[in-house]
Amino acid sequence: MTKVLMVASEAEPFAKSGGLGDVLGALPAALAAQGHIVATVLPRYRCIPLADLKRVYENLAIWLGGTAWRTDVYSRLERGVEVFLIDCPPLYDREGLYGAGGDDYPDNAVRFAVLARGALEIVRRLFRPQIVHCHDWQAALVGPYMRHTLALDPTFLGIRLVLTIHNLGYQGLFPAKVMPELGLDKKLFQPDALEFWGQVNFLKGGIVFADAITTVSRAYAREIQTPEFGHGLDGLLRARSAVLTGILNGADYSQWNPETDPFIAARYSAEDLAGKRACKRDLLAECGFDPDDDRPVIGMVSRLAAQKGFDLLCEAAEDLARENLYLVILGAGDPYYEDRLRHLAAEHPRTVAVRIAFDNGFAHKVEAGSDMFLMPSRYEPCGLNQIYSLRYGTVPIVRATGGLDDTVDEMTGFKFADYSATALLEAVRRALATYRDREAWQAMMVRGMKKDYSWDASAREYAALYQRLLG
Ligand code: ADP
Repeated sequence: MTKVLMVASEAEPFAKSGGLGDVLGALPAALAAQGHIVATVLPRYRCIPLADLKRVYENLAIWLGGTAWRTDVYSRLERGVEVFLIDCPPLYDREGLYGAGGDDYPDNAVRFAVLARGALEIVRRLFRPQIVHCHDWQAALVGPYMRHTLALDPTFLGIRLVLTIHNLGYQGLFPAKVMPELGLDKKLFQPDALEFWGQVNFLKGGIVFADAITTVSRAYAREIQTPEFGHGLDGLLRARSAVLTGILNGADYSQWNPETDPFIAARYSAEDLAGKRACKRDLLAECGFDPDDDRPVIGMVSRLAAQKGFDLLCEAAEDLARENLYLVILGAGDPYYEDRLRHLAAEHPRTVAVRIAFDNGFAHKVEAGSDMFLMPSRYEPCGLNQIYSLRYGTVPIVRATGGLDDTVDEMTGFKFADYSATALLEAVRRALATYRDREAWQAMMVRGMKKDYSWDASAREYAALYQRLLG
């Protein structure tokens, strides 16, 4: 039994912008179910109503250098996990998690420094763990604060530090002048600590000070040590490769399971697929298409970011639209891709439907109502939607990178290696050809539906890692 404190910027059901939120909703609960004592620290954003929470610490001062941020700490027990929420209205009582209108908040360095430093105050006063497990750049300053700023504080002796990188493309880069504002010693502004080409790099600080580093698939753990996927940190990651491992994310089947999903038109399973047809009809109708049409539906649910391969999709779009299919896309993010996708739908109203929104219910409908699920990512640390798709009998078509490569094989889906529109089209055409062979298609669906990527196994890998660290 290990006592673990998770630190992150999002977790279901409190706040979510992508896969990080799914993971922080499910992994702590899976560990708790295995008998570990787990707590999580999050910011108390505006979207998390105070009425649902209990105040557990009043007027906690979080010091960054000479400034004290006045906070209160709230908590709630969620699936066996105590979730601490740091309430600091000037920093977190805002419309978005990280920004608004496509721009990051200008004070994100301070916002997430307070999260990291605040987590250590929680360790001092409310929950003393054996392991502090930080996630992504927003929590990465826990390392420098714990091992440098507070190195002489006996509270932290013996606590081991784990950093999980969910996406190396986001590092938390800020101008050098924020160092004193964050209460970080200028000695840390060195290339072997937080400096990164003249800027402060939060994630780098996390990587330097962690006792163990994990990322969310084995393939991605290898890839980030190469210049192509390393985002400038591949050298450091190679230097730390002895403590770097990949642990695949699981799927939270309590949320993503066509046998129980409350968001979809009908329930179904590998044994009884009849309900899937009803889900397809429902999706087609919602998109304004003929519900009785048997053309295959290709679904996509994604943050709209360059990483996700939307440039390829846009390049392939004209050719795709000429095929006998429907394309249904749910996404939000980069205004540039939002515009391009809106245009695409306007140009092909009989084939392409686009919903620009963050809409969890519709995401479930796309998973259930589509025949195929497309993820042409440039890189993909793990990817969750292809794992959900497998369970929903929605055959994934993916670029063979990172977690997509680790979770989809030729028995359960279609892969392409080259990052090109030609390769994407070729994979889609292979899928369309198989789709016409109803028996082969159904066999492929069922093989995917029977795959088990539940959190239990992944949580055991984390627990084993904690045990190794604690000796
Ligand atoms: P990433 O973390 O890079 O965004 P993942 O595949 O790991 O990608 O996780 C994405 C998660 O966010 C999934 O649960 C997916 O359903 C959800 N998601 C992404 N975009 C949307 C959207 N526009 N509406 C609803 N859910 C979304």
